[in-house]
Amino acid sequence: MKRLALAVVLALALPATGLADEPTVVKLRDRAMAGDSIAWPFVSELTTRFGPRPAGSASEAAAAAWAAKELKRLGFSNVRVEPFPLVGWIRGEEEAVLLADRPQPLVAAALGGSPPTPAGGVEGEVVVFASLEELKAAPAGSLAGRIAMVDGRTVRTQSGQGYGAAGAARAWGPSEAAKKGAVAYLVRSIGTSTHRFAHTGSTRYVDGKVAIPAFALSNADADQIGRLAALGERPRVRLSSTASYAPNTRSQHVIAEVRGREKPDEIVLAAAHLDSWDQGTGAIDDAAGVAIIAAAAKLIADLPQRPRRTVRIVFYGAEEVTQPHASDVGGRAYSEPRAGEIGRHVLAGESDFGAGRVFALALPPKAAEAPFGREALRLLGPIGVIPSQRSPGRGGVDIAPLASAGVPVFALEQDGTDYFDFHHTADDTLDKIDRQALDQNVAAWATLLWLAADSEVDFRALAAS
Ligand SMILES: [Zn+2]
Repeated sequence: MKRLALAVVLALALPATGLADEPTVVKLRDRAMAGDSIAWPFVSELTTRFGPRPAGSASEAAAAAWAAKELKRLGFSNVRVEPFPLVGWIRGEEEAVLLADRPQPLVAAALGGSPPTPAGGVEGEVVVFASLEELKAAPAGSLAGRIAMVDGRTVRTQSGQGYGAAGAARAWGPSEAAKKGAVAYLVRSIGTSTHRFAHTGSTRYVDGKVAIPAFALSNADADQIGRLAALGERPRVRLSSTASYAPNTRSQHVIAEVRGREKPDEIVLAAAHLDSWDQGTGAIDDAAGVAIIAAAAKLIADLPQRPRRTVRIVFYGAEEVTQPHASDVGGRAYSEPRAGEIGRHVLAGESDFGAGRVFALALPPKAAEAPFGREALRLLGPIGVIPSQRSPGRGGVDIAPLASAGVPVFALEQDGTDYFDFHHTADDTLDKIDRQALDQNVAAWATLLWLAADSEVDFRALAAS
């Protein structure tokens, strides 16, 4: 009886699943936690050498060429740069002024895709709406000659849900304002910064165009206009922008692999994006993600034995932009030419939420309860990762087209409480990255990528079972 009890205890103490070569993965995880990876030099060099990397720009292309060279030097297999066509957008010069007896400068940034103003700018009375819904309800023609402003605040959350909720005003505001006759559009920055930075980002093309010039105001400047209106004044603003389009440019993906030792055709894909907005150096969005997945894959490549399946890292181009004909152009440029190979992608994940610590793991349906999920959480638990309460959904913007095509996805959810203080602003710079948190991300990614690549779990079949 005693022997049986001992056997039961031993069975529980050992990996019950056979999925993990435990000492290997513990060593991998702990090496990353100790900061012994390429993550910091990679993110530092990328943001320092190339600075802002707008989609379709020469700096994005140069960063891609550098990244490919680095990945080759580091020993990755099948390193390649895959170009695809893009309509670029260039900010040019811009200015926003509150007009009055005593004019005041405003901190504003044109939204990506916004057309320029006529030379000399556009002027008008600002009509403030509390929400996009309120703007939609305005009577036709009521904004003729005026500037519409949507003044919704972004709610600070750990998960980033506040950004998702506020983002519609940036995406759809310009077309709604134009329908009512507005000559330009303003949106309170879709971000939580209390410093005086305007938060840019793409607006949506409707019928192939952005109808009127559109700008984000810093939170502090949106407050200023709101207070003036509350004092009974009718604030007038002049906006100018020399934004332009580059119709025949290109972006590119950088792809590299750690080839699987038994099933090299089966791919576990890790995604991040190399392009960034133009105001900062795109450190948290998304040089951090690029460095995290590169460092995790490099640690796996350094092991004495490669995992069974291939680990593929993809630095996507053009994640940030929408196009006249499409939104997720970068993600589709990867997935569409690979329609015949989608079935070989066994699992995909995306690191695109800065370098805040990973606190939860979301797995594909049924994987969390399966031995794979229990094993992953047992190994990630000691570095502060708990089971997610959410579904991984379609992942992020880059892997969403893969997810839509049936590729199972996971998410290593990060603490984004302060992410939208910096994201898409001039303040997104390297100093915002906490090195220990970056290392913890690498540890979580290396662990999960290794487990998935060395396992034989069919995540599709699991979900269907
Ligand atoms: Zn991003």
